[in-house]
Amino acid sequence: MFTRRMICGCLAAVPFAMIARPSLGAEGDTCAVFTPARQRETSPAKALARLKAGNERFVSGKTINCDLLAQAQETAAGQAPFAAIVGCMDSRVPPELVFDQKIGDVFDARIAGNFVDTNILGSLEFATKVAGARLICILGHSDCGAIKGAIDNVELGNLTATLKNIRPAVEMAAAGGKAGTSKDPDFVQKVADANVALAERFILDNSPTIKEMVNAGSVRIVGAMNDLATGRVRFFES
Ligand SMILES: [Zn+2]
Repeated sequence: MFTRRMICGCLAAVPFAMIARPSLGAEGDTCAVFTPARQRETSPAKALARLKAGNERFVSGKTINCDLLAQAQETAAGQAPFAAIVGCMDSRVPPELVFDQKIGDVFDARIAGNFVDTNILGSLEFATKVAGARLICILGHSDCGAIKGAIDNVELGNLTATLKNIRPAVEMAAAGGKAGTSKDPDFVQKVADANVALAERFILDNSPTIKEMVNAGSVRIVGAMNDLATGRVRFFES
């Protein structure tokens, strides 16, 4: 039987009320760090709303300035992020920036092509089952080099094996129509969308742990797509 304390001492219960600062900014509680209590109060729907609101701030140039060092100090003894984000390693899509989130707010699992494999899945199980995150967001992006590389069957050292994880999305996007090329922006986007959908499916098909939480309504999985040119994130909601 795992407990938070056994798996990671940093997750041990912390008396946040004792160390929380009365004021961290002019935006109400928006600079307040996430605590286990706040995390519990944040439903999957509220978690999604937080990401949407953060992206809205980002694209409108109204990001919040928080005292990040104070947040680092306040979260040093424990973390309770409200979401886990699987994103591409692309330098232009850092989740905390495009969602205007701060220290201790979200887990990030970043890998070229934002696919989910066993290692990412284990990380997501930790983020949700052990650490209590309420939302898993698979964040793809436009004009993704890894997607293009997978379309082109690029072979380069270990990258060859990495890109193989994206091939099912290429095949899914090409099914029933003609296979496009990496020079075709519509096809590249179609593969990126399929890649996000397949990541969601991979999670549910391969993690009974997460599937159980999703079925119980305690965790939600959502796909999303970042537009590099605008910074806007489009959510795939069913
Ligand atoms: Zn990418």
